[in-house]
Amino acid sequence: MKLGALLRLRCPICGKGKLFRGYFDSPERCASCGYFFMRESGYFLPHVVIGYAFTVLASLGSWPLVRYAFGIRNAAVTLTIMIAVAVLFGVWFIRYSKVLWLALDLKLNPPQSEDFEARGRRS
Ligand SMILES: [Zn+2]
Repeated sequence: MKLGALLRLRCPICGKGKLFRGYFDSPERCASCGYFFMRESGYFLPHVVIGYAFTVLASLGSWPLVRYAFGIRNAAVTLTIMIAVAVLFGVWFIRYSKVLWLALDLKLNPPQSEDFEARGRRS
C-alpha cells in the first residue's frame, strides 16, 4: 500500500490512477492498474462514521480558537462559526475520510488478486 499516493488521492496500489473523478465521485476501479476501489457494495459506508468523528472534533476544536485566539465571547457568533467550520470541514474532509477508510481496510485486508477481477461487477 502506498500511503503517499493515498494522500495525493491516488490509487494505493499503483500510485497512478486517480481515486476521484469529480469532487465526490469515485470511479469503481483504478484506471491504471484495474484495482477495484469498491471491494463490495456499500464498501465506503464506514467513511461516513470516520468523517463524522473528525468533523465533530474540528468543530469542537474551533471553539477555543474562536474564544481565545480571536477573543469572541458572543455565544451566537461562536455557534455560527462552529457550524460553519463543521460544514466546511465536513465537505472538505469527505475525500480524506474515504482515503482513511481505504488505507485502514487495505492494512487489515491486503489486496488479493480477486480485487482486480470483475467478479460480476461492472468493469
Ligand atoms: Zn491503481
